[in-house]
Amino acid sequence: MLEDLWIKHREWVFEPLYYSSLDALIGALDTKIIRPAEYLARIEDLGCSDLVQVDCAACHDVALLTPDFLLRLGLSPRAKVMDLKSRVRCRGCAARGRAVVSVKWGREGG
Ligand SMILES: [Zn+2]
Repeated sequence: MLEDLWIKHREWVFEPLYYSSLDALIGALDTKIIRPAEYLARIEDLGCSDLVQVDCAACHDVALLTPDFLLRLGLSPRAKVMDLKSRVRCRGCAARGRAVVSVKWGREGG
């Protein structure tokens, strides 16, 4: 999936060379490309090497979930990964709605 994004955004990425440093460029890539991609990602977009990371904002418990695991929970493959935020409960402190969901993309992509 990231490869697709790369191709789609290649021109866009190489154009703004006004970033002051590599860190700034990476930061911009992260906020402008990676995060929107995560926001739109559905469980079916995840490959078997990708993981969904769920951080609890209340107790800082971190869970790494495989797409397989999410499907076995009964979630639809079309469910958006970010929608998990409101659906998961922390195994550490049982807080609901405090999850911070992100995608850890595996090397093989989707
Ligand atoms: Zn918690």
